[in-house]
Amino acid sequence: MKTAAELLAQGAEELRRAGVDSPALSARVLLARVLDCSLEKLVICLKDPVEPWHAEHFQQIIVRRSKGEPLAYILGCKEFYGLDFQVDPNVLIPRPETEMLVELIRGRFSPREKKEYADIGTGSGILAICIALYFPLFRCLACDISRQALLMARNNARKHGLLQRILFFASDMGQGIRPASLDFIVCNPPYLSCDDFEAAGREVRDFEPKQALLSRENGLGHIQRLKGVAEASLRKQGLLFLEIGSNQADAVKALFQDWAGLEVYQDLSGRDRVMAAVIP
Ligand code: GLN
Repeated sequence: MKTAAELLAQGAEELRRAGVDSPALSARVLLARVLDCSLEKLVICLKDPVEPWHAEHFQQIIVRRSKGEPLAYILGCKEFYGLDFQVDPNVLIPRPETEMLVELIRGRFSPREKKEYADIGTGSGILAICIALYFPLFRCLACDISRQALLMARNNARKHGLLQRILFFASDMGQGIRPASLDFIVCNPPYLSCDDFEAAGREVRDFEPKQALLSRENGLGHIQRLKGVAEASLRKQGLLFLEIGSNQADAVKALFQDWAGLEVYQDLSGRDRVMAAVIP
């Protein structure tokens, strides 16, 4: 039987050869998952022998990771805004830059307010859920075109105790939402052009749902459609909080020029990332 330390060295070496990021840490995370223990516990049992079936399982997931499958899909979870979410290949893996949308909304409203909002293209449900957790009186309509994504979002909402305040709704970009029924909309739409998609890493291109990433009209197709849906479904003075591609600020400003209070905010790497605007 091999020890945990030997398996880790071997796994990390395989990941390194495959060009995977952070090979040593990834190997540790994967072995901890196989042994169902924490990273801290793993460190103190490095010299212990590992049962052959665990070693074999570890080897299998090292191979998956070496082929580029994202760690989040192998583990089936990903942290976002300090919370744990289930993910699978039907939903986009939450990105840290999307946390800006939650921050922005936390800066705009008070937890004592009562609002109704929609998360359009909810995916794993991260935005719908984080916002609902910080605003105990808000109610949410979470939409997605993918029924598998909605199931995942629903599981996540259940896990965070929010099934009472989030309603799930199968819809293409929020079509079918009741007119003038929302105080705000939050949306991380697909916004990559074909070129952006080709330039995205292999892990994104080969493993994440294309439907959640790619949009026609040079990446702006979904945002154009969202504008119409937002104009119909927002109440007076309703707000839209939108994630955009770092090269789309000018196009989005032009598209929303008839709206008020339009602001574009940069992410931590200084790239344009989110937009907020008020319906006229
Ligand atoms: N930010 C994502 C990426 O670069 C794209 C997310 C999206 O299209 N909404 O892969």
